[in-house]
Amino acid sequence: GTGGISAGAKQVENQFTKLIAELGINAQVGKRCDVIKTGCRGLCANDVLVDIITPELGRITYDFVQPEDVENILKEHIVAQAPIEKKKAKAYYNTFVDQQMRVVMTGCGQIDPEKIDAFLEEDGFKAIEKCVKEMNPAQVIDEVKKSGLRGRGGGGFPTGMKWSFCAASPGHHKYLICNADEGDPGAFMDRSILEGDPYCVIEGMMIAAYAIGCTHGYVYVRAEYPLAIERLQRALDTCYEKGYLGKNIRGWGFDFDMRIKKGAGAFVCGEETALMASIEGERGMPRPRPPFPAVKGLWGHPTNINNVETFANVRHIINKGSEWYASLGTETTKGTKIFAVTGKVKHTGLVEVPAGMTVRDVIYQVCGGIANNRKFKAVQAGGPSGGCIPAEVLDTPVDYDSLIKAGAMMGSGGLVVMDETTCMVDVARFFLTFTRMESCGKCVPCRVGLKAMLDILERITEGRGEMKDIDTLLDMGATIKKASLCGLGQTAPNPILSTVKYFRHEYEAHITDKR
Ligand code: SF4
Repeated sequence: GTGGISAGAKQVENQFTKLIAELGINAQVGKRCDVIKTGCRGLCANDVLVDIITPELGRITYDFVQPEDVENILKEHIVAQAPIEKKKAKAYYNTFVDQQMRVVMTGCGQIDPEKIDAFLEEDGFKAIEKCVKEMNPAQVIDEVKKSGLRGRGGGGFPTGMKWSFCAASPGHHKYLICNADEGDPGAFMDRSILEGDPYCVIEGMMIAAYAIGCTHGYVYVRAEYPLAIERLQRALDTCYEKGYLGKNIRGWGFDFDMRIKKGAGAFVCGEETALMASIEGERGMPRPRPPFPAVKGLWGHPTNINNVETFANVRHIINKGSEWYASLGTETTKGTKIFAVTGKVKHTGLVEVPAGMTVRDVIYQVCGGIANNRKFKAVQAGGPSGGCIPAEVLDTPVDYDSLIKAGAMMGSGGLVVMDETTCMVDVARFFLTFTRMESCGKCVPCRVGLKAMLDILERITEGRGEMKDIDTLLDMGATIKKASLCGLGQTAPNPILSTVKYFRHEYEAHITDKR
């Protein structure tokens, strides 16, 4: 993955390939020694990670591997069968992995994302084959409905129901879009899935296309994700070459074409109608709904949009059944959720946990707690549109409804952890600066309101604020949420509203201490 490559994974890979040949490792051990590259497995902070898998010793992980470590690993571990204890992944690596539940990310960090055979070995395309051969489209939608899968892009709308709306729309020409315009600061779930297991997203889209009756699909992915685009394009090309996309796929009598549309990185293009405008070649600006995309979407045709993680869930639901999927998670949020955990935790990275695990367990059990023995202060959940969760509600389960009740939201899955040294007013200002810059400017409450809120916040943080400013922020935030056209404006005040709710004293301290 991108994290591994930036830590030197390519050099490590090249060194393994070179030294296996130069040292004659195959002849020395009497077996073939393959180098397999994979996408990110989550613990990006410990890259470069290398697993040595041998019949005798099983799978052993090394972390922080550099090219100069490779010769010793080959000689000691593979030839002499004596793993190098001091290079083995730190003890917490196993805890980090064991505490998770991998469903969507089963392939990430395990299979070579550039080889279709690796995906096929993991039952790749078995789910779409099952759909086409054993189920009619309505049965597929029913199965997804029964699973309880909800959209992982942030809205949490029931996926099966969304598919049924588009399926019921009249018209033969329907579009399917995968939203990979992940734009929250600190979020990298979708990028990692596309880099680590692009075929699982393609298969999820094929199943949705069959169920809804779509003949054309787009993956809208931001251009800042070059590796994800490269891997996905390679996967699409291979699918066309091997007959998994195009006309009469595998002789199943089902047609589906897919292509990538690169976005220029505007946060607002994650909003469905702005995203479609961008694909159409227009400026990415939201439009009022109704009409909803399921009725009148891309170029006026019925369109269904889901995000990367949502599509990546689908093949598992079909393969293992809706009952199995519905048995994971909570009453209102089924399955697992991937979080990108960043900030002041000991082990940052990508984690997949069953919905319903508490925020406390994600931070302390999976990610090892707060770094540098400091005290936890808050976690920003749901990106710039989310809210801050303080220590007193740390036992909130990670499900859609509980997070909203706590004043945050699931969003796409960003968790930014803050310790006792963080100023919550600065945090609010950081997120509001982001959303104000990303506002498309189409409607007044968002365009003017966010700027006015930011002016007040800046006054406060510069020691020029007044007590009445806090209530003005609350009033304006409530109005902007109600009156804005799209999700960006409707959620942008959340970081201010939640920090005032839980950390009002910090705003007051800025005002009274004039700092
Ligand atoms: Fe544009 Fe903001 Fe209005 Fe959305 S709420 S349409 S981002 S101005």
